[in-house]
Amino acid sequence: MDLNAAIEELVTANRILAHENVLDSFGHVSIRHPDDPGQFLLSRARAPELVVAGDIMAFTLDGGIVGPEPGKPYSERFIHAAIYEARPEVMSVVHNHSPNVVPFTVIDKPLRPLMHMCAPIGGDIPNWDIRTGFGDCTNLLVTNQEMGRDLVRCLGGRNVALMRGHGSVVVGRSLREAVFTSVYMELNADMQIKAMSMGEVTFLSDGEIAAITAGRAGFTFERGWENWCNRVGRPYISGAWETGSGYSRTDG
Ligand code: MN
Repeated sequence: MDLNAAIEELVTANRILAHENVLDSFGHVSIRHPDDPGQFLLSRARAPELVVAGDIMAFTLDGGIVGPEPGKPYSERFIHAAIYEARPEVMSVVHNHSPNVVPFTVIDKPLRPLMHMCAPIGGDIPNWDIRTGFGDCTNLLVTNQEMGRDLVRCLGGRNVALMRGHGSVVVGRSLREAVFTSVYMELNADMQIKAMSMGEVTFLSDGEIAAITAGRAGFTFERGWENWCNRVGRPYISGAWETGSGYSRTDG
């Protein structure tokens, strides 16, 4: 993938995540720089629904700005920086305030996959509390690398970590994977709230989660991505170059 293709892909991801009820005016999505793994691409501070190619900026893995500054950067870019710094296999990061997910950051009932498409969120989702390391007088924002690294220690090797009273982070080995996981995390949270209101919930087992995530690959991401592109009026570009592409299917 060349730089222009990566930027267009990132614009499309912004639009999709806004449309699918994952990002409000304040969430963000990034991609590792295709030519330099020591940098990542992220919009200037702007609502994801409005992001265009000219808004995309480059950053170092400690949150420093590289090159042109079309506007103010997101103050929470350190979430992305610290994850790329610690997880070389991660190619994309989503930070969201996904509305049905946030309730699970403030109660003692875990968010857990209950439908097969939602398995990638994992069966062991940690809940990072900024109070633990930084006291109870922060504004809850992750505004420096030290806070980002603390969040990453909680995330570990997982795809998802909740952030108490705030939102969550989602990572992927490709942008399309991170978008897919983010969309299905919001849907799972919505369905889980409904199911819990009716009674005891039967969640996916650890074995089912492992089987689904082991078999999931590019074909499944493509099917969702093509549909989501259409919904937001963005061109669908085949993602054969994506990490994890293949024809193993878990989409039914
Ligand atoms: Mn935030």
